[in-house]
Amino acid sequence: MRAEIICIGTELLMGEILNTNAKYISEKLQEVGIDLLYQTTVGDNETRILECLDIAFNRVDLVITTGGLGPTIDDRTKEVVSKYYGKKLVLNETYYNRISEKYNERGYKLVEGAKKEASIMEDSFILDNNVGLAPGFIYENNEKKIIVLPGPPKEMESMMSEGVMPYLKVESDEILMSRIIEITGVPEGQIDEDLKEYFTMSNPTVAPYAKEKSIHIRVAIKGKKLESENLEIKLNELINEIKGRYPSAKILD
Ligand code: AMP
Ligand code: MG
Repeated sequence: MRAEIICIGTELLMGEILNTNAKYISEKLQEVGIDLLYQTTVGDNETRILECLDIAFNRVDLVITTGGLGPTIDDRTKEVVSKYYGKKLVLNETYYNRISEKYNERGYKLVEGAKKEASIMEDSFILDNNVGLAPGFIYENNEKKIIVLPGPPKEMESMMSEGVMPYLKVESDEILMSRIIEITGVPEGQIDEDLKEYFTMSNPTVAPYAKEKSIHIRVAIKGKKLESENLEIKLNELINEIKGRYPSAKILD
């Protein structure tokens, strides 16, 4: 499955916050063997978000958005995604009640935007928000999928691990297996020379990362879930080959 992340928020373009959501989601997609081909960042602007969705669905099968699920006028992701598909937003009573209670507890007057915050697109399925107030959702359209996530990192991360990852594990027919070999007492340049033919391989891949007191070699293999036994054998062969060259090498968990 080929994927694109669309991060929505003018504050990202202004350099006010670091786009940590893109990093987090990218790492998670690797775990389930999904090919992330693009990361796009766009401001809170309807026309440009629509344009991004159009471009993304012309080049990938899965789009994950983050940001813009709150109650304010500049939070437009849900409306724009619904507009893109020609669908309505449907109020979710549970979330609306939860939001009303929160406003009451804090002594605030309930704002009109709370309705939007508590809504998801019709025909989609809900992603629960166990940390904040706005639910996310997943929508499947033919072979293509969109996953709409909140911007606040804690909310997005919890939704990813509780709702999205279990879903993607089932949906993805691919798997990525990887291990880290740690080598100490050998200079980076030496390892580079020893392993240079490995570093140019494409599947499996072998990549070095210089750490403060050691070198980490990441060995990864990707393939169909159905072939996972074979993949594991191949991966282990390669790890043993590399490990055999360095007495200090050990595999990290
Ligand atoms: P939003 O739902 O877009 O209004 O975002 C709410 C808050 O989440 C923002 O004020 C940011 O602090 C944070 N946020 C939104 N998008 C990102 C992102 N891509 N990476 C990190 N933090 C984000
Ligand atoms: Mg925003």
